[in-house]
Amino acid sequence: LVGDQRVDKTVDSVCPYCGVGCLIQYQVKDNTIVAVQGRDGPANAGRLCVKGRFGFDYVHHRQRLTKPLIRKPGVPKDGSIDARPGDWQAVFREASWDEALDLAAGGLKALRDAHGPQTLAGFGSAKGSNEEAYLFQKLVRTGFGSNNVDHCTRLCHASSVTALLEGVGSGAVSNPVNDVQHAGLILVIGSNPTANHPVAATWMKNAAARGTKIVLADPRRTELSRHAWRTLQFQPDTDVALLNALIHTVIDEGLTDPAFLRDRASNFAALKEGVAACSPEAMAAVCGVPAATLREVARAFATSKASMILWGMGVSQHVHGTDNARCLIALSAITGQIGKPGSGLHPLRGQNNVQGASDAGLIPMMFPNYQRVDNPQVHAWFEDFWGQPLSAQPGLTVVETLHKAAAPDNDPAKVRGMLVMGENPAMSDPDLNHARAGLASLQHLVVQDLFMTETAWLADVVLPASGWPEKAGTVTNTDRMLQMGRRALDAPGEAKQDLWILQQLAQRLGLAWHYPGPDSGVAAVYEEMRQALHGVIAGVPWARLDAAGSITYPCLSEADPGQPIVFTERFPTADGRVKLVPAAVTAGAEPPDADYPFALITGRQLEHWHTGSMTRRAEVLDALEPVPTASLHGSDLAALGLQPGELLTVESRRGRIQLQARRDDGTPPGTVFIPFAYAEAAANRLTHPALDPAAKIPGFKFCAVRLAPAAPG
Ligand code: SF4
Repeated sequence: LVGDQRVDKTVDSVCPYCGVGCLIQYQVKDNTIVAVQGRDGPANAGRLCVKGRFGFDYVHHRQRLTKPLIRKPGVPKDGSIDARPGDWQAVFREASWDEALDLAAGGLKALRDAHGPQTLAGFGSAKGSNEEAYLFQKLVRTGFGSNNVDHCTRLCHASSVTALLEGVGSGAVSNPVNDVQHAGLILVIGSNPTANHPVAATWMKNAAARGTKIVLADPRRTELSRHAWRTLQFQPDTDVALLNALIHTVIDEGLTDPAFLRDRASNFAALKEGVAACSPEAMAAVCGVPAATLREVARAFATSKASMILWGMGVSQHVHGTDNARCLIALSAITGQIGKPGSGLHPLRGQNNVQGASDAGLIPMMFPNYQRVDNPQVHAWFEDFWGQPLSAQPGLTVVETLHKAAAPDNDPAKVRGMLVMGENPAMSDPDLNHARAGLASLQHLVVQDLFMTETAWLADVVLPASGWPEKAGTVTNTDRMLQMGRRALDAPGEAKQDLWILQQLAQRLGLAWHYPGPDSGVAAVYEEMRQALHGVIAGVPWARLDAAGSITYPCLSEADPGQPIVFTERFPTADGRVKLVPAAVTAGAEPPDADYPFALITGRQLEHWHTGSMTRRAEVLDALEPVPTASLHGSDLAALGLQPGELLTVESRRGRIQLQARRDDGTPPGTVFIPFAYAEAAANRLTHPALDPAAKIPGFKFCAVRLAPAAPG
């Protein structure tokens, strides 16, 4: 405690990991975080999971980059090998900031001038602040001259956002997680909240203890099942069949909300026709859930006093992810279970700021606040606002960008230069061997990050950036809540704040950017962003948020306390109604077959975060889960002749990895679950690059693999 002089100071901030947005307090001694405590935040009420409480020491890791680095001449970029973080001296040399920035910006500028703006692209990050996301997309649009800017939302909830914008006119949640306390029933689908949103899971468990029925729908039976009223362990990739059966039952048994359909919804006739053949009896054969259970759940959902749907990437990461989310919207709307406490739609956001980064415009077809780049009025407004000519051509998404990076040299649309801020596509993209080849073939790659990530390993210039505790900024959690993070530490060595780096690059690309004030002008950037997000956070000036710490948007005036529950009167669509969109039952890109008989599901685990660049360097977390594992049903382990802990190989048509077998009887026979955080057994070497046609999200939750015991030695 400060009073006891055991720490120098305490600093209030927000957990840097998942989208729950738990408020924390850093305890700092000698510019080192020595402990983290939970604060009484709206999303966490003092609670923290193991990542929030023990995952802070990555910022002090010996592998932090502390000087700018430039690739040595003649050292090839080998996309086929993994980074060796401690071994970078063979590939890079240290440089001054001026030299590195001149080279970084000069290379991008030369490619832009020689080959055109469409040959440059940028990946921002959902781990950065809103201000960093805003400035990054502005740099790409005004400095590079293209809309080729995206981030990991493309890989997590792009399909949810696409369906929500189409259906309800807003890409955000309708009500906060802890509104489950007002629900009679909650449907949790395609989500393992105990592992991925642990504090959110505690609200669900609290609600269940008070009588709320939890319906857990997922191919894997996960820990929340212990608290569930019903667990629907459906066949992988059959989400639409399952959900259409529920919708069919509601309509067939007269359980719709007629007043809601009459006054607040459109396109019901098309939905009814679309699910006409999807009786529970017909769909049971597809999804594997008994028809009687499907009918029982549909009745309970429709007749509960309030029903809420929460979903994760088990829904969104499919080539039919948009259809999956359309079904959830339809189920909620036809039963009138939206727009009131305890009922509505909540896509559980993955990263701490994926909501805010999307709001701020890290999306290739949207300016800030989801305004389309090809809308003439919007386009003209932003040209005037930023004082620069802008492209009206929607840009490339994440996977499309790396496809274009791998294109032949004579392709005029080949992506030749990239700036990557805090993302690690060399671990997170599908079909990694292809993605890494694309990154390796770039003529000029600039990476700003904390560590020598697998992506930085392929860079021409690496710029040492700041960790979350080393800067100030705002983030927006899964509940649409803006929250303030404050600087607790000075960055190590010559590492710089990302806002400073972006302004330096912009100046070298011919933009007269200078945002004055502490922490690289973060408050000034926020105030500019607030104008671009005028319909959303107009009532939240920096000073108000700084004082309050957390405010939920929409917040339209300084007297507005914020609106945790939306759609109470109308939807923000052109006609004010929710649009019901039918979805057909379709198969994934690569179902299991005789050669590759297992279905692969990739995802996260409690202790590790995404590509592992932070949590693999957090001592407690890596000690808890130190090696890559493949979770299998006991019957599959036995059939393979494997004991838990023994090594196996997992192979798809695109790659092969070796890792430890783990018994998990919640993983159904014929299925294997692999976390994607481990560079030494990168799960995305196996995944399929096919995309959802509407949202361009890959199907990380379904492809075909085969398993075998690893060869001795
Ligand atoms: Fe951090 Fe999420 Fe855990 Fe909360 S639940 S402490 S935000 S990782």
